Amino acid sequence: MHCLEFVATIYGMDMRSGIVIRGINNIYSIVDVTEINDLASATVFECRIKGKILSDVEDEYSPLAVGDQVDFHLTGDDEGLIIRRSERKNSFDRWNQKRGRNQTLVANMDLIVCISSTDMPPFRPRFIDRAIVCANGIPLLIVLNKADLPLTEEQDQRFRLYAELGYETFVLSAFDQEGITALKKILQGKTVALIGQSGVGKSTITNALLGDMELQKVGSVSQKYQRGRHTTNHAIMLAGQGFTIVDTPGMRELLVPHTSAYQIAQNFPEFRKVQDQCAFVQCTHIHEPDCAVKALVENQEIHPDRYASYERMIQSLSWRPQEWELGL
Ligand code: GDP
Ligand code: ZN
Repeated sequence: MHCLEFVATIYGMDMRSGIVIRGINNIYSIVDVTEINDLASATVFECRIKGKILSDVEDEYSPLAVGDQVDFHLTGDDEGLIIRRSERKNSFDRWNQKRGRNQTLVANMDLIVCISSTDMPPFRPRFIDRAIVCANGIPLLIVLNKADLPLTEEQDQRFRLYAELGYETFVLSAFDQEGITALKKILQGKTVALIGQSGVGKSTITNALLGDMELQKVGSVSQKYQRGRHTTNHAIMLAGQGFTIVDTPGMRELLVPHTSAYQIAQNFPEFRKVQDQCAFVQCTHIHEPDCAVKALVENQEIHPDRYASYERMIQSLSWRPQEWELGL
């Protein structure tokens, strides 16, 4: 038993285990784990972190993310204090340029749904490549929305490459009900986070997936936050029929978290496959001689734009504050 839990038990405090469904200005909305599958009608507790610092959590920009499991004790009918964050099963992390730190957007997801578009904004495979790195091993579904608009032959080839590399892909037009129904099927039983660049159609898809779930039931999460048919500016967990969605704010840019080049390379399956043949152990495939990855890039067996995308990520690490480079 954790010592704070022990103290709480002695003093007769009501201890709960819950999931963070939203966090704004250090106030976290939490739903009891026993109610998380009935999110639409669950009680939402507004909680702060006890003493403002969580034990066992290192200095992070934001110690709690949507999806985190926490222990909290009640201080009122719908208020509480958080005393502990449970170990994360996984997390989607990005580099927060403004704060100069890594930031966890969501934790403990079954799936990341990365939404891209054919056009308006243009298809940006490098955004998808970075999302794969940020997801760091969380299964990822790559959705290509606005399928009613064409891709160029080159873009189409780049998109099809994801399936060849082993990623799940899904082509959709958000206005097409059949596509939405098929997507709902894929999401059944899962807790998923939707991420995407602004304008790709994430809100349209979220609204179509949630349908009337959104505005139903008094006291529901949706009503509490008056989330109507508009975009969010913070991540929030919402109930669908048979699945749970974390809607995240649309982003203009997505930067990979600060980590080693080697770690980033692990998210490129086509590099990983041959990395054992590189002359150097933990080769970054950038400047080392006798690099098996670069050899494949040269003879076009690795897509040149995937490699260029990787190079950009590695370059982006060096633009960051010095202390973080040294801290690697
Ligand atoms: P968000 O910024 O990602 O939330 O994007 P929105 O959902 O607000 O959509 C941006 C624009 O794209 C809106 O004008 C939508 O009507 C439009 N849009 C969304 N899905 C599709 C689609 O499948 N095809 C086309 N042509 N437009 C779409
Ligand atoms: Zn190499």
